Amino acid sequence: MRSFVYNGQPSRVVFGAGSLQYLEREVQLLQANRALVLCTPEQQPLAEAIAKRLGTKAAGIYPRAVMHVPADTAAAAVDEARRLGADCALAVGGGSTTGLGKAIALQSGLPVLAVPTTYAGSEMTPIWGMTESGLKKTGRDPRVLPRTVIYDPELTISLPAGLSVTSGMNAIAHAAEGLYAQDSNPVMDLMAEEGIRALADALPKITDDPNDLSARSNALYGAWLCGTVLGNVGMALHHKLCHTLGGTLNLPHAEVHTVVLPHAISYNAAAAPEAMQRIKRALQSEDAALGLYLLAKTNGAPVALRDIGMKSEDIDRVVQIAVQNPYWNPRPVNPEASGALRELLQRAWEGAPPGH
Ligand code: NAD
Repeated sequence: MRSFVYNGQPSRVVFGAGSLQYLEREVQLLQANRALVLCTPEQQPLAEAIAKRLGTKAAGIYPRAVMHVPADTAAAAVDEARRLGADCALAVGGGSTTGLGKAIALQSGLPVLAVPTTYAGSEMTPIWGMTESGLKKTGRDPRVLPRTVIYDPELTISLPAGLSVTSGMNAIAHAAEGLYAQDSNPVMDLMAEEGIRALADALPKITDDPNDLSARSNALYGAWLCGTVLGNVGMALHHKLCHTLGGTLNLPHAEVHTVVLPHAISYNAAAAPEAMQRIKRALQSEDAALGLYLLAKTNGAPVALRDIGMKSEDIDRVVQIAVQNPYWNPRPVNPEASGALRELLQRAWEGAPPGH
């Protein structure tokens, strides 16, 4: 018999090709009049076009979002928001830009309106992250959850196919781990399965033709669902390993998720049979872990940690960190599991298919 807690989180989602046209209306609905547009240096042209569209409702552009939200970048952005009298942070971009918007919200209380252009899913979560002196701190705070999210698949057409696949696998990772979360609930299970299904259907089509708007729409729909799962339930071994590999070894975020996911799922397979059934169904695959591995590999994504910058001598260090303060996981992660974790990472390092 089921028992669960479901905690709905207040955010407004406007979805559809061309939905950027509703931006001004959405800014108004937030009762904002001066939006500070945030972006990475690479996405400045898009931010400029958006600021132009907003006219007097744009306070300015802050084009310095970078990976992992350095604390001094966040502090400078807060200062800029104050100087310009901004009353809203408009984050246009991927997880790094949304992360900067969240840091501003955390420190100043300004509402965030997010316009995501990748599949990372940060826009649907109350999770913030910030890096200071090489250490990434994370936390949950309802103030950082974007109040409004405009999902316009047209803005994702420019995301290169390779990045689209790794970003999509990053999204799938949130849903896959959400399916065996300790605090899961039936609504999240439905969203997670549908999110994986949508992305697994879309990614090969995007690889074939990055301009396929219908596939882009399906992928962004999947990213929304998977991001919602991340925002609502706890994550497990896979996310712990990725945070360690990203934080300690500075490996690239989406690629790490892509490589590790099949192996983490394989590690947990026997301990989470219902989650595996849903993943298999969503992927239309006989095996959840192998299905994920093939989804990455056949779409040209990396499948080996050694190909994305990890040295084999770092495997033991990562195992040690992973077994200290582990996240809850359906199959125990403790010092006795070191051997199995080492094997998991060895396979992931080599790019071997996941083993049970
Ligand atoms: P990203 O935001 O760092 O973007 C990667 C690169 O892609 C950047 O150079 C960016 O300018 C470019 N880009 C983004 N969209 C583009 C587009 N449509 N066309 C062309 N180029 C585009 O990458 P990401 O994977 O979206 O985000 C990763 C970060 O987000 C990590 O720091 C991760 O920790 C964080 N994250 C946080 C959460 C959360 O809930 N807090 C969730 C997921 C990810």
